[in-house]
Amino acid sequence: MNDAALSRPASADALNVAQLRGDFPVLGRQVRGKPLIYMDSAATALTPTPVLDAMQYYYTHCNANVHRAVHSMGEEATALYEKAREAVRGFINAASTREIVFTRGTTEAVNLVAQSYARPRLGPGDEVLVSQMEHHSNLVPWQLVCEQTGATLRVIPMTPEGELDLAQFEDRLGPRVKLMALVHVSNALGTINPVRQMIQRAHARDIPVLLDGAQGVPHGPVDVQALDCDFYAFSGHKLFGPTGIGTLFAKEALLEAMPPYHGGGEMIRTVTLEKSTWNELPYKFEAGTPNIAGAIGLGAAVEYVSRIGMDAIAAHEQHLLAEGTRRLQDVKGLRMIGTARHKASVLSFVVEGVHPHDLGTILDHDGIAIRTGHHCAMPVMAYFKVPATARASLSFYNTPEEIGHLAEAVERAKSVLS
Ligand code: PMP
Repeated sequence: MNDAALSRPASADALNVAQLRGDFPVLGRQVRGKPLIYMDSAATALTPTPVLDAMQYYYTHCNANVHRAVHSMGEEATALYEKAREAVRGFINAASTREIVFTRGTTEAVNLVAQSYARPRLGPGDEVLVSQMEHHSNLVPWQLVCEQTGATLRVIPMTPEGELDLAQFEDRLGPRVKLMALVHVSNALGTINPVRQMIQRAHARDIPVLLDGAQGVPHGPVDVQALDCDFYAFSGHKLFGPTGIGTLFAKEALLEAMPPYHGGGEMIRTVTLEKSTWNELPYKFEAGTPNIAGAIGLGAAVEYVSRIGMDAIAAHEQHLLAEGTRRLQDVKGLRMIGTARHKASVLSFVVEGVHPHDLGTILDHDGIAIRTGHHCAMPVMAYFKVPATARASLSFYNTPEEIGHLAEAVERAKSVLS
């Protein structure tokens, strides 16, 4: 997904959603006696059968550790684990599997870069540039490293639509900026940032760029070589894979130059009591027994969505976004938070006189799962002067009929609560 590549016309919608829904066993359940309507995919996406099967296969056929044993099960487990790495490489078009580090998720990937790349390079007077719409995962690690090194955190402000102010961005790209860490797609607002253009501007000043892609990869094609980002972080569980697994992509030369983040087994080449040397990439950054089943599940997830087609997924979601925006805007007293021109399928809103948590509770009685709260983006809430929002985040398994139910349920909840 490059810049606005997600915002495709609704006419491109070619998904057989009814059939795809059959891949998600949990969609068959009821909540409070009503069919589940799941609209919290930005928090965690549902898991399809091929992912469950891949993890089950590992546990029932080759439940062994990786990279260690010479026995057959160990070799089979290693082959599946490395096949998953290759699948992830292909999915984001990285040049080499040496650039694909498995982590616990986006959060760990960002912390790895903050501590292993940034910390040794930062000092008093240096700056790290983030934006006002970051998830706490791409904000707090930079606050920590600034505190540790005496560097300063600078912030690209937002506009009332929830877009980044690009003039202010240019102003902040000064000679002291040593790294820019930017969210690709905002989880709280849905905004798709013009990251390619921003990376070009940063690179013109030799500033490397990390993208928080937690909400980037689920919504459209991502090509790290076309984007030319230096680091790209994402989580498996937002991409229809399991929890506890994610990926840090980083350019090979950067990873080579970085010290290990965690020490332990697997990440070493030699160890004496005095000193150790490091394993080759990417193992230098994968200390200890990894989340083997998780990685295999993530590999199955990227293969699954690739079979559907990320362009087709993006087109369907744009259709849902347009429909959801239209229906919710008809609700009197509803204020949409995040009205950027280029958005992913996230509908964040507040309703006059109704607390989002009460709204979420009432919707749950209709079997509708939405998120309410600050979405780990408190500075975004502060900017819009709201304590929380209600957020319906849609995926390719959602339908226009479900959006109709959402809008009706919001109307009903409003009449009960306000
Ligand atoms: N960044 C963004 C934009 C997110 O939406 C999330 C998850 N809500 C994260 C980072 C953190 O992801 P994880 O908790 O899987 O590490």
